[in-house]
Amino acid sequence: MTALEEVRKVLRDLGIEEELLHEDARLRAHLGLDSVDLTQMQVDFAERFAARVDLWTEHDYTLRQLADVLGEHRPGAAVHQAYRDRGWWRPEFLDDLVLSTRLHAGHRAALADAEHTFTRAELDAAVSGCAARLAHTGIRPGETVVVQLPNQARTVVLVLALIRLGARPVLALPALREHELTPLLAALRPAALAVPARHRRFDHVRLAEKLRERHPCVRTLLVAGAADPAGGHVEIDRLTEAGDQAPAPRDRHPSDTALFLLSSGTTGAPKAIARTHEAFGHLVRTAAAVSGLTPESVFLAVLPVTHGFAFASPGILGTLARGGRAVLAAPDDALAAMALIERERVTHCALTPALARQWLTARAAFGGHDLSSLEVLQIGGARLDASTAARLAAAFDCRIQQVYGMSEGLLNFTRLDDPPEVAFTTQGRPSSPGDETLVVDGEGRRVADGDIGELLVRGPGVITRYHGEVAAASFTPDGFYRTGDLVRRHASGNFVVAGRVKDVINRGGEKVPADELEALVLEHPGVRAAAAVAMPHRVLGEAVCLYVVGGAQGAPSLPEIRRHLTDRGLARFKLPERLVDMPALPLTAVGKTDKARLREDIRARLGNED
Ligand code: AMP
Repeated sequence: MTALEEVRKVLRDLGIEEELLHEDARLRAHLGLDSVDLTQMQVDFAERFAARVDLWTEHDYTLRQLADVLGEHRPGAAVHQAYRDRGWWRPEFLDDLVLSTRLHAGHRAALADAEHTFTRAELDAAVSGCAARLAHTGIRPGETVVVQLPNQARTVVLVLALIRLGARPVLALPALREHELTPLLAALRPAALAVPARHRRFDHVRLAEKLRERHPCVRTLLVAGAADPAGGHVEIDRLTEAGDQAPAPRDRHPSDTALFLLSSGTTGAPKAIARTHEAFGHLVRTAAAVSGLTPESVFLAVLPVTHGFAFASPGILGTLARGGRAVLAAPDDALAAMALIERERVTHCALTPALARQWLTARAAFGGHDLSSLEVLQIGGARLDASTAARLAAAFDCRIQQVYGMSEGLLNFTRLDDPPEVAFTTQGRPSSPGDETLVVDGEGRRVADGDIGELLVRGPGVITRYHGEVAAASFTPDGFYRTGDLVRRHASGNFVVAGRVKDVINRGGEKVPADELEALVLEHPGVRAAAAVAMPHRVLGEAVCLYVVGGAQGAPSLPEIRRHLTDRGLARFKLPERLVDMPALPLTAVGKTDKARLREDIRARLGNED
């Protein structure tokens, strides 16, 4: 074994990933060390693992140097250097990219919700102040903090402050519940959870308390709204007021993880996606450029800001990076959103097709608002059909830009100068000039141009593995991400999304992995077999239909199954809308559940009911 291989092996044995090694602060937190004194580490390793660990005899490396040496020998290092050489990855930090007052005047309005408004300078000060107060509460650089907050300005301040501090926010949808959060906490070992006191009638604090009891890594609960200092809660409002400056973050590097996004989870619970400053900065910049954002733009965030689409594709971060203003709201009805567009002179807004359909209905019924400021409606998260696209363009008198993206880092956009027939019928092409895309068949061979196949992608914004996973089926050996989406290339060069390889139901943009749902349903004592499939839904596009084979007493009812799933802490949006009781599930020739037949079956049933 060479010295390097030996070092690698020891680190692996110690459970230290190379990624961790790249980040001194996080490694210190991981090992519970106060300093990176190498001798001290050696002693600590020896005590902890009752073995002599001699990493440093031959070379006197600092951890960063060691990481770089290992990195040079890592597949991908040359590619990363090429991304830097081409200017796709820049030596900048995400918070600086977004908050810079070098290019954009500090007195300009930057961020607002119903209660607060920040100019750029105020936002920058609030972020610095918040970073300082977070440090006072004991949050250290390198630690992770799960942020499960609604669309409010303080959510953005908190996320940017964590990034400035060098701590890692994990952006989590407020809709996630115990079932989804438990494996995440086990994997990411967050030092704190940031939650609303209550949101949409759910007591988040109670769940956070329960999770804190089970996961001792969680020291602090950051609470928006009624916090209880006696319960060790820290009030987020107090953290995010403008105020004292942050201590200069120590030892940050653009290749450090800036934040974590969550995959929508094709199998089981969501997976953590580590985004470095340089790769995520590239995504934000390129997405902002193809969306026509300028310092005059006003972006309205109505989709959850803790999801990549409204947060950074280009969303709030892209708008701020171009010097524009972001307005946050989560109105329950479309008319309230339109009132906001009128009042704030909104130019850009991102919607799912399901939400867009609701807006169309509201617009047709009560079309009174002046929406003349609106330039671009971005629609993504699920497939938009051409007729809805055309109706949207007419009803809102603006451009429709389709966005086909994923948290793993590929973002496709139709371009603002694409002719309407292309903008309405395709889901766009990559915003990053560095993305390489392949459309392949089941054996990984490229299909003929225009034929349908699975989309693979590799590029400066795309991850090459999930956090904490060494090898995964979602990536090819040469680093392409398998999107699990079936696409074909349109004559314009844009992609058309034709379906899915992955077994996920896309419920109005929210993803429901079928196998996760089925496994939980099978825990019900009255269920012998179960299969979840997508059924057509007028507003959501797809909804969840559950086929169930019951035991001797017959199959449980839909309300009973929904209760069973809720009791297991499953997010509400994953609950089935319909249950079909069957004597046996249909099988394919190789003995798998024949989901194609089930999808046909539910379509036929719905057809007969119309
Ligand atoms: P997420 O990571 O939650 O953003 O989900 C990404 C997945 O959503 C993609 O892999 C697609 O399956 C689906 N998706 C996103 N945008 C679109 C779109 N415009 N058309 C069709 N499917 C989409």
